Amino acid sequence: MRRCVTKAYIFLHRSMSTSSLPPSPIPLLTSVASYRRWRQKAFDEGKSVGFVPTMGALHDGHLSLVQRSLAENELTVLSIFVNPAQFAPHEDLATYPRTLPGDLELLTAQQVTVGEAVRKASAVFLPSVQDMYPSGISQDVSAQKGAFVEMKGYGHQMEGTSRPTFFRGVVTVVTKLFNAVQPTNAYFGQKDIQQALLLRRLCKDLLFPHPEADHVHIVATTRDPNDGLALSSRNAYLSANERKFAPALYKALQYAESAWSNGESKDRCISKAVAVIDEVKVQAAIDGVDMRLDYIEMNDSETFDVLDASSNHQLAGDIPVILSGALWVGKTRLIDNIVVGDLKRIIR
Ligand code: AMP
Repeated sequence: MRRCVTKAYIFLHRSMSTSSLPPSPIPLLTSVASYRRWRQKAFDEGKSVGFVPTMGALHDGHLSLVQRSLAENELTVLSIFVNPAQFAPHEDLATYPRTLPGDLELLTAQQVTVGEAVRKASAVFLPSVQDMYPSGISQDVSAQKGAFVEMKGYGHQMEGTSRPTFFRGVVTVVTKLFNAVQPTNAYFGQKDIQQALLLRRLCKDLLFPHPEADHVHIVATTRDPNDGLALSSRNAYLSANERKFAPALYKALQYAESAWSNGESKDRCISKAVAVIDEVKVQAAIDGVDMRLDYIEMNDSETFDVLDASSNHQLAGDIPVILSGALWVGKTRLIDNIVVGDLKRIIR
């Protein structure tokens, strides 16, 4: 534990000096102070600002959020910040992919035409750990000091069961990012559905003006067009052999979704999904790939409560249901979800 805490504090001192930045046609703002000056100008000019928070290692999923923001806002800001507080001490903070030059190239290539105007990203916000955590940050929650934001009652289910300190870290950093960036609109991926819904609730509960809760948008998951694997920065960890088996989770969720729409009970749907994983697991083991299911569950999209075993789609009523899961493929933990029911109530 002590070793990991020390590691977190090392990150505290690693801020981005301007000279170490790759060349970029998009302005790179590396401090809250420089960002605030940029934002004040946008306020003065009455321009809308769309915000896409990321941890970098950009892929087409992130870029779909950027496209949406470009279409709906006069200015778009993307942030890249690998947030220590959302990684538990045993998790992959040190090895998380950091690919800034490639990220900037991808981002620079994005544009959307609105009327006569061609819109491109207006700024990249690259705050240092020191700027984001002025009181310091430890990955060990019991050693943390300073202000943190907690979402009571909505952070212990689904992903929160396996990662009990994750949402505390996410909600805290996004609060800080919103306070700094002050976006008109913010864009999150359905890929991390619980996170996105939590953040919408954060804005509602704490009366955030920038963005207002209704301006927190959730964008559908971008998938590999060939096998449906949800794009993720962590897919980079997969070996070629592991990658072959990674779509098993989505396949399992699709089986459960189809059973659900045929009126089967939640328990039956989950059993069918687990059977798919078990089958792929046998094949994977023959190929030397270790697969382990963390969970597959069905939860109410408003309360995140686990549905009753006997629940089915008639009994579930109007509230959309989140069918989600997490699967270890080798040392990589993959997550995915399908929303069943009236999607428009949450994906907007
Ligand atoms: P991350 O860099 O992983 O923190 O993700 C930044 C944002 O991109 C989050 O709102 C994610 O939900 C979103 N995102 C990640 N992967 C995808 C994907 N495959 N499709 C759509 N959005 C995604």
